[in-house]
Amino acid sequence: MSAESSVTKRLEGKVALITGGASGLGESTARLFVQHGAKVLIADIQDELGHSLCQELGTETISYVHCDVTCESDVQNAVELAVSKYRKLDIMLNNAGIMGHHEVRVTDADTENFKTVFDINVLGGFLGAKHAARVMVPAKKGCILFTASLASKISMGTPHAYKASKHAVVGLTKSLSVELGEYGIRVNCISPHAVATPLFQKTLGVFDKKKGEEAVSASAVLKGAVLEPEDFANAALYLASDEAKYLSGVNLTIDGGYSLSNQTWKMGLSVLSE
Ligand code: NAD
Repeated sequence: MSAESSVTKRLEGKVALITGGASGLGESTARLFVQHGAKVLIADIQDELGHSLCQELGTETISYVHCDVTCESDVQNAVELAVSKYRKLDIMLNNAGIMGHHEVRVTDADTENFKTVFDINVLGGFLGAKHAARVMVPAKKGCILFTASLASKISMGTPHAYKASKHAVVGLTKSLSVELGEYGIRVNCISPHAVATPLFQKTLGVFDKKKGEEAVSASAVLKGAVLEPEDFANAALYLASDEAKYLSGVNLTIDGGYSLSNQTWKMGLSVLSE
């Protein structure tokens, strides 16, 4: 038996659409979903990267469509393409997102940047869910996932627009899970801590992946492991699979317990030893 065929294919026969699938967490998830037997359509604005991923993985299992998630007709077209190509849509991963500019103070914040971040991170996900639900409701099944962030739980020094947008993604997840449960559709989101992807590297100005990972690991609560895009992909695989058949409305945190600790407490205690 080959190594590949010995892997239990947890998404055999399923069809997935992944926005922001040409890079980072979305790309890693697309790779894992294909490995687990899914047919995948990736929707992104980075056409060259998207096409080269399909060439690498084999065009019979994965394809690419140009789709700006802020444009409703693009999102509708991507959903319709998935259905016409693969006959159905089982999994919609609304993952495309940006960090936006870092404002120093709210008083200096760029209002247009705030709108852009919300357009991509929130409206984009909403449109993905809306058009996926139009297909999933009559089918009376489906799985809608969103990529939120640990910034939906704690501050992490991320910009206001980003943090607020990721809180909104969690709110949308909860709201949709209540409405769509009636049709057997599960809606969940995933909140990873910082992962060394292009988004992370651009934000921190750390273009050496290893250095980025070291910086995250240095502040981690859980030692001996490094958070990688594959950890996100594995969480998405679980939530998309039938193993998670009764999970809905969940914000799954991938942070090794980081959000449960508050290092400022230790800093406060340090005055006792002064
Ligand atoms: P990334 O930059 O590697 O990937 C994001 C992808 O989204 C890119 O391929 C980009 O082209 C695409 N995209 C951006 N705007 C788009 C638009 N308007 N329409 C369609 N596609 C668009 O970054 P990533 O880290 O993989 O980010 C993926 C998601 O994960 C984002 O929602 C991000 O907020 C979230 N996230 C990332 C981290 C991290 O540390 N990397 C942590 C928590 C959450």
